[in-house]
Amino acid sequence: MPLLQVLADKCIGCGACVETCHFGALAMVNDVAVVNEACTACGACLEACPAEALVLERPTATPGDKLDSYRGVWVWIEQFDGEAGSISWEMMGQARRLADELGSPVTACVLGSNVRHIAQEAIAFGADRVFLADDPTLATYRTEPYNRVLVSLVREHRPEILLLGASARGRDLAGAIATEINTGLTADCTGLEIDPETRLLRQTRPAFGGNIMATILCPNHRPQMATVRHRVFEMPTPDPTRQGQIIDISAALREEEIATKVVGFIREEGEVNVADAKIIVSGGRGVGGPEGFAPLRELAQVLGGAVGASRAAVDAGWIPYPHQVGQTGRTVRPDVYIACGISGAIQHLAGMQTSKIIVAINRDPEAPIFGVATYGVVGDVAKIVPELTKQIKSKLGR
Ligand SMILES: Cc1cc2nc3c(=O)[nH]c(=O)nc-3n(C[C@H](O)[C@H](O)[C@H](O)COP(=O)(O)OP(=O)(O)OC[C@H]3O[C@@H](n4cnc5c(N)ncnc54)[C@H](O)[C@@H]3O)c2cc1C
Repeated sequence: MPLLQVLADKCIGCGACVETCHFGALAMVNDVAVVNEACTACGACLEACPAEALVLERPTATPGDKLDSYRGVWVWIEQFDGEAGSISWEMMGQARRLADELGSPVTACVLGSNVRHIAQEAIAFGADRVFLADDPTLATYRTEPYNRVLVSLVREHRPEILLLGASARGRDLAGAIATEINTGLTADCTGLEIDPETRLLRQTRPAFGGNIMATILCPNHRPQMATVRHRVFEMPTPDPTRQGQIIDISAALREEEIATKVVGFIREEGEVNVADAKIIVSGGRGVGGPEGFAPLRELAQVLGGAVGASRAAVDAGWIPYPHQVGQTGRTVRPDVYIACGISGAIQHLAGMQTSKIIVAINRDPEAPIFGVATYGVVGDVAKIVPELTKQIKSKLGR
């Protein structure tokens, strides 16, 4: 049942609402607007209607649930084998900033086995309080036990905001928690701000294929939940002298109650980690074919970096997907990003434009990549890259 109602007696049949709706949820039938099941209750049509003939029934929080009783900014600290992922500390930097604006505390949730040291680290990175669930059932990530612990903590302590990294695990866990708690979740945010008037979390992310940036609010449910991709935000500096409280909590499930068992881990062969590389030499369609990546690999090796790629090169089968940088690939933030034969489409820029130094090599002086480049070289990659490698080798005395 759509939440948008048309007041038929007020509708003047102008069709302005139909034109505004991006979802095809409105149509004119006998000169009266009719809403269908495609309505997402986004409210874009309300302002377009000159006759005030549209009413949007905003869903409210669970009856009796006072939104202002939720307080604090929480972060789930992702760990593997007792080592916290840097994505969690990036989240912690943001949590601290948002909490300071709200005048609220920061809470870290550390789940795992033998992970007390991570709780201490979380305090150094800005947590005022840590909920620590240290139990063998939580040693490796599984949705069921992790979800159960976090859902019961959220229900009991009512945070205003809950942040998770947009890693494979973070995406899985965030969706499970939001579904069970019945709140909103904005995935893959690239910006988080507090609205000074409403105190709502303004969650910005690319939408419509990366062509627009959408700012999303969650006004009627709590916590406001967001995931953020690795490397979108800077890593904060830890302060080992910070003091905080560690609260031990028990795991919510026993091993025999958990349906999934982890049998083992198989490391992907030839795994590349462009996300962690300080220098990336990236190739696009302009390298001309799979063999065009050979000089890029050599340059990356000389610089001690990794090889990245545009989606065009990956889709053409010239290089495997783990190398892809961009909206549907990895987000990277290296010290130096060398884009070779990459045009600079918005979806590619979304994954690399916060790199500290961008060097673009392209034979088209009008290529959009030059718009974000620190240094630009107009010319043929096939000539420039080997020459660059030669020059760097000679400078390094190799
Ligand atoms: C929903 C969605 C998600 C997407 N996600 C991603 C993503 O994650 N990552 C991504 O990269 N793209 C993504 N894309 C695709 C993106 O829109 C572009 O199509 C893609 O980035 C283009 O790749 P390219 O720059 O290698 O190729 P092109 O756009 O074809 O550009 C090739 C460039 O190489 C230059 N060139 C050609 N020959 C030479 C030469 N010999 N020497 C020097 N320069 C040369 C050309 O001047 C040109 O600028 C996505 C698209 C959509 C719709």
